[in-house]
Amino acid sequence: MARRKYVCRDCKMFTTEKKCPNCGSKDLSASWKGIVVVNKVEDSDIAGILGVEKPGKYALFVG
Ligand SMILES: [Zn+2]
Repeated sequence: MARRKYVCRDCKMFTTEKKCPNCGSKDLSASWKGIVVVNKVEDSDIAGILGVEKPGKYALFVG
């Protein structure tokens, strides 16, 4: 069984840990919608919209 995924409310990155691996925030949410994989931040429109600065896996919406 897959581990439950959480999403950081600050940067929207996915994590299975108790804190965000990207920004270190502990403000995580299990309520999220949509997955976006950002490979190249500089070429990605969605990265600009979400405000992400690093490649990775992000949620579109965090509840
Ligand atoms: Zn974060």
